[in-house]
Formats: sequence, structure tokens, C-alpha cells
Amino acid sequence: MEKRGKIYREEKIFLSKKNKSSQNGEEISLDGKKIFVRTFGCQMNEKDSERMVAKLGMIPVSSPDQADVIIVNTCAVREKPEHKVYSEVGKYVSLRERIKKDIKIGITGCVAQLKGSELLKTGADFVVGTHALHRIDEIISEVFSGKVIVDTSLTTNVSDRFESPMPYSFYDGSRVKAFVTIQEGCNQFCTFCVVPITRGREVTRPSQDIIREVIELVSLGVREVTLIGQNVNGYGWNTPGEISFAQLLRELNKIDGLYRIRFTTSNPRYMSDELIDAMAECEKVCEHLHLPVQSGSNKILKKMARRYTLEEYLEIIDKLRSKIPGIAITTDIIVGFPGETEKDFEDTVELLKTVRFDDIFSFKFSPRPGTPAARMPDQIPEEEKSRRLKFIQELQDKITLEKMQEYVGKLEEILVEGPAERNRDKDMMGRTRTGKPVNFEGKVEPGTLVFVRITESFRNSLRGELVRQN
Ligand code: SF4
Repeated sequence: MEKRGKIYREEKIFLSKKNKSSQNGEEISLDGKKIFVRTFGCQMNEKDSERMVAKLGMIPVSSPDQADVIIVNTCAVREKPEHKVYSEVGKYVSLRERIKKDIKIGITGCVAQLKGSELLKTGADFVVGTHALHRIDEIISEVFSGKVIVDTSLTTNVSDRFESPMPYSFYDGSRVKAFVTIQEGCNQFCTFCVVPITRGREVTRPSQDIIREVIELVSLGVREVTLIGQNVNGYGWNTPGEISFAQLLRELNKIDGLYRIRFTTSNPRYMSDELIDAMAECEKVCEHLHLPVQSGSNKILKKMARRYTLEEYLEIIDKLRSKIPGIAITTDIIVGFPGETEKDFEDTVELLKTVRFDDIFSFKFSPRPGTPAARMPDQIPEEEKSRRLKFIQELQDKITLEKMQEYVGKLEEILVEGPAERNRDKDMMGRTRTGKPVNFEGKVEPGTLVFVRITESFRNSLRGELVRQN
């Protein structure tokens, strides 16, 4: 396993809590015990939280004071979410003391992988990294027998990384959508990114397992799947004998009862013509692509080690828009990368004006431990980073509002997800194929496809009138 700045942490620590009435390490049943999970970060973390609860077979509760186990599933992509871990765990440790209940508190996810045993100082009873989730039931059982456990060991064993029982929540037929993990980890090593450290090397899940899971989900009432991974469109590239991502889409497109296929996150390096053709030809693949560009400056893209140029990125956008008319494209932008001059920043602004993305996820550069960019000279002052972020967010707000306005008057196919957040009694909510949330008056079964005439547009959602059910 190649090392990068000696930052990989693999720990397996089992400590016995002397002061507690330990049960001498015997297996403790978790049946009937209640669990509260607080998830930060990406879809991968949401999926991992679901996997853990399914693996544990414990009863999920919505309030921490009712729980026997509390898990904080963490994100390390920027400084801010990492700092949240300490305040969040601190809250549960003081709750435990206040209500005098022997709640077991654990930290999982990317900060757990990054920091390991250092996190025991928060008062947590267990720290489990991104590769050891398949052992979560054993670990918690041992914690109940009086142990303190840290496990940030790495594994490339495919079933350990992906397989888990189907979460209970799918068995009552209420779930319309589901995340399906198809690959995990990353071999790209963009200079600002901590993911290759916290999620390890890229592992590809066998396509047969993915297809089997989607068929099972559809049999339980799921109508839309989102394929997730750090570089989903690179699926199969480094796995001899495995099918390509484009072929995987074509296979999933054949599944009866499945209405929609989405996927995230894609890497411009893997946007092949084969894939764009598959997206255009598979009727279940939705017309929305999230394609992070990060910067509009070739100099900065090089320093980020993104391995594509602005020109190559723009060529992909042109191909997508000519092959898939009306496709919604969103992206990620980092401002204030070390060495980013005013001219480089203007290149990013120009990119936003040229491409007119449907929306962007924009961030200030945040130096991450163990990454080359954190050690680069010419770090940009925080104030200047904030000025640049505000500027592009205001610019994008205008563009997004104009793009949302273009939906008014159109008839859109909506997959109904359930009652709307507001006016739950009167309104239903669903999404267009391009991913826009739409609220409309009416009573329709979740999981149904309907057609809605759009009457109003807002920054983040649309409103319309129900025309007919499919
Ligand atoms: S491709 Fe994405 S996940 Fe991988 S290193 Fe780059 S930014 Fe991080």
C-alpha cells in the first residue's frame, strides 16, 4: 500500500474499562437495543449509516436520549465539518452524564479514519474507520462487554466494503429512492483532497452484485436508484474483466419496474463518448449530471492535479448538451486555492458565465492534513477567500434563478416522493428528471410518475399544477 506523507492510520486497539462493571468480554446481544445515528457529509456516509443500522439490527430512534448507542458518522472533507465532531460528541457525552444512562458513544466515518485513537479524548467508547464498518456489530457488542475499541484497519475485501443486509426501512414499501454504492475509495490524489487517505484505494463492486441489489430494491417498491462512488463514471476502468460504467447503465436500464437512474460523483477524466451515448440512449438515465470542475484556471487545475484542462472540460459540456438536450449540469468549485491570483479567479468567474451551470456547490479552499496543497506556498488569506466565495455565489444565484424560470409553462414528468415539506396536508413533492424539486397540490401515491405543468419558479424549487398521472 503506497504511503502519502505517512498519514495512513491503521489502528486496532482494545482497552478494558476498569471502572465499569465489565462483563469479562463475553458477547453481549444487541437485540432490542436502540440506536441514534447523526450523519455528516456525502451520500456515501448516508449509505454507510444505513448499512450500520441494518448490520446492527438495532431499533433506530430519532432522539439521542432514547438511545443505548449513539454514532456520529463524520466527514473530513473540510476543516469545518471536522471540527463539528468535537462539539457533536461533546453534546452526547454531557447528555450521558446528565441523564445518568450508560449510552455507548461512537465515532465513525472519515474523521475516525483520519484521527483514530486521538478521538478517544472526546469521551467516545469506540472509533471505527471507513473500512471496518462490516465489523460494527462485533465492535459494539464488545463495547457493551466493557471494552473501548479503535479500529481503523484498511481492507480491499470487496464484500466487507459493500455488502450488508437490506435496511428494514425498505420492507414497508415507503422508500421510493435508494443509494447503491458501486465503487469506493479513490486513486486520483487531487492535491487538496483527503478522500484517498480516509477512504483508501479504489475498489470496484462486482456488477452482478449491483444488478442483484437494484432488482431487490425494485421488488421492495424503489423506483429510483442513485449509483454512488467517488468516481462512479470510472467504474470498471481498473478492474480487468468487469464491464464499463456505460455498460452497467445499459444493464440497469433493462430492469422492469425501475423508473429512474441517477449517479454521483463523476470525474471529467472518465466522461467517454461511450458513456455520453449510453446516457442519451438509456431512457431511465435522468438528464442530470454532477461534474465537478473545481476551477476555471488551467494553472490551478494543474496545481490541483485534476489531469484535465479547461478546454477539455468545455468540450465535454458541449458534447453533453448536443447529445442530451435540456440536460441539467451542476458542479463543484473551490476558490482561494494556494497561488490563485485575481486573474485565475476571473477565469473561474468566466467559466460560470460561459457554461451557466444549473447550480454549483462552492467552497473556500480548506487545507487538509496530509495533502500536498496544505503545504503549498502562497496560501490565500481567509478574508480574500470569503470575498471570492461570496462573489461567485451571488453570480450563480442569478444564473440559477434564470434557469429555474425557464421551467415555467413546461409540462414536466415528476416522480412523486411523498407529502411536501410545507403544506403536507395539501401538497405533494417530487422531482423532475433534471433533479428539480417540484411541489404541487394533490394526493398521489409515492413512487408514481405524474405530469405537472410548472407555474412558478424559486431559487431551489418549482411549483406546478397536476395535469395527469402516468
Ligand atoms: S477525484 Fe474526487 S475523491 Fe478523488 S482525490 Fe479527487 S476530489 Fe478527491
